[in-house]
Amino acid sequence: MTVNLLDYDLEGLAAFCDRLGEKRFRATQLFRWIHQKGASNFDEMTDLAKALRDKLKASACVQGLEVTAQHISSDGTIKWLFDVGGGNAIETVFIPEDDRGTLCVSSQAGCAVACRFCSTGHQGFSRNLTTGEIVSQLWFAERFLRQHLVRQDRVISNVVMMGMGEPLQNYAALIPALRVMLDDHGYGLSRRRVTVSTSGVVPMIDRLAVDCPVALAVSLHAPNDALRDNLVPLNRKYPIAELLDACHRYLEHAPRDFITFEYCMLDGVNDQPEHARELIELVRVRNKGTAWCKFNLIPFNPFPASGLTRSPSAQVIAFSRILGEAGIVTTIRKTRGDDIDAACGQLAGDVQDRTRVGERIAQQRTVMLRPVAAFDTVPGKS
Ligand code: SF4
Repeated sequence: MTVNLLDYDLEGLAAFCDRLGEKRFRATQLFRWIHQKGASNFDEMTDLAKALRDKLKASACVQGLEVTAQHISSDGTIKWLFDVGGGNAIETVFIPEDDRGTLCVSSQAGCAVACRFCSTGHQGFSRNLTTGEIVSQLWFAERFLRQHLVRQDRVISNVVMMGMGEPLQNYAALIPALRVMLDDHGYGLSRRRVTVSTSGVVPMIDRLAVDCPVALAVSLHAPNDALRDNLVPLNRKYPIAELLDACHRYLEHAPRDFITFEYCMLDGVNDQPEHARELIELVRVRNKGTAWCKFNLIPFNPFPASGLTRSPSAQVIAFSRILGEAGIVTTIRKTRGDDIDAACGQLAGDVQDRTRVGERIAQQRTVMLRPVAAFDTVPGKS
């Protein structure tokens, strides 16, 4: 059986090479070819002995996902739609900023958590992605961006597991994928620059702290259980108090000294001054005050099935000010890629209706790539 080497972290690749009768340093060479140079053809790997290349050709491949559409926003944001088979599609988004290039990566086709404000949640759950499918998103994007920006150095400086899916409900595939991202022979990203975003799978937060403690973001979205039960149904299983306890335990292992709370601003639902004040009381702890967390206020991206609307800017600013006055570092997320539906919560916009996904993918194939000059404005890692 042909194995896809994108499915392996370095340890897995070493075990595979061992089965081929090859030494560990060969696995390191191979890993660097795949992830640092973006190679997919074994004949390109000129420092590998021909006998090894022949063995690899007979038993392995480096097979990325098929891109079915690419959209480039006027602000430089790029969204790719990947076909993962069975009528399922996932999305990956590259967000360039002055001092960084962030890739938003999906972990599942669909999502079972069913948050009310999330179009992926409304789509339902299809399946977990494999490690190779998670890694492929970074492998493809880094290769693509370097080629089109005519750069040799790394373009993607940050990865956020904030695309489609709840990453901690696909734990077995997630951990090797994170290791590929962090490995100095792979993408060499620091643990501070890789963020797992979770809706609050408490036992898995504890496991992540031990297995691969990267930066953590928690989708909070409500200051009390009654409201959060409604917005994030997983809260009924892991209520806020348990979630916050898990966050404090995580901080003992985290690469940053804070947890980021994501808070989607929903008009008249969770965006009132009393909600902000309730949040302050919720996160305030003895000895630490509120300095252990940051808030990221996210403008909601409306979609018809949600029945929800975006909070007015003035409401978001007022909310932010109340948190800020309590000493909580609060940012309001800029909307990016609005013209291509790339913002969070819209990742599944084109694939909500799974019965029509094949038809939609077929339509998406006709999307034209913009000329290479369009990338001139895309800043990369400083
Ligand atoms: S917000 Fe995240 S966890 Fe909630 S339904 Fe959407 S993808 Fe799933």
